[in-house]
Amino acid sequence: MNVLPLKPGIIYGPVNSRRLGRSLGINLSPVKHKLCSFNCIYCHFGWTERVTTDVFEHINDFPTKEDVFLEVRRALKGIPNLDYITFSGDGEPTIHPEFEQIVEGVKIIRDEILQSTPLAILSNSSFLNNVSVKRALSNVDVKIFKLDAGNEETFQKINKPAKGIFLKDIIESLKNEKDFIIQTVFVKGSVDNTKENNISEWIKAIGEISPIRAQIYSTDRPVPEVGIKKVSRKKLEEIALRTEEETGIQVKVFSLE
Ligand code: SF4
Repeated sequence: MNVLPLKPGIIYGPVNSRRLGRSLGINLSPVKHKLCSFNCIYCHFGWTERVTTDVFEHINDFPTKEDVFLEVRRALKGIPNLDYITFSGDGEPTIHPEFEQIVEGVKIIRDEILQSTPLAILSNSSFLNNVSVKRALSNVDVKIFKLDAGNEETFQKINKPAKGIFLKDIIESLKNEKDFIIQTVFVKGSVDNTKENNISEWIKAIGEISPIRAQIYSTDRPVPEVGIKKVSRKKLEEIALRTEEETGIQVKVFSLE
């Protein structure tokens, strides 16, 4: 089994998501190459070819907002029963140079066609200090932000971010957010964020940023890094219980075991 191919277009699904139920996906990433501000060792879409925060260097590679609106309108008319409309895909959605205008437009289309369906986003948290992204996120009903580490060394090893992205800045940005969920992938093997110091520093960060809850899981599909192993449900449940005891924040385990 190989890593997944890139999404061929803007709309995908609906997918039956473990966390979001029946969800229609909106992919704002280029289709010809993988572009993201992270290069996570466990990304199911393989290594990121362009690890960047400089969107203007690649501005012509992104779908236009007009194309996004056309595709979303078409999809929502044909698919009536959805639990969520989700900005996600095979890169970081907030990196799109017109993300704010896209969220505004999709919200208007949603209100016209499927009023009660919430908008959701899965984001790697790297653009939360951008004022335009912050305004856009205020229009999103369910925000799920990534946090895979509580210390810089592990963050750099597991997420391999673009130059200039540091965990301390992400944690500061998350402290300024409200009403969001944290998602964390735990892995072991050649890179391991389940060792004692990693768990205790991650729990400390969770306590400081105070999300509504955290969702933790491991990887169930092929990943690009060699030697990565899945973390057992038992270990994930131990992490969840300890986090709840130490922070009072609910942690939900997602595991196929
Ligand atoms: S942030 Fe998401 S899309 Fe980007 S490399 Fe990591 S897992 Fe893949």
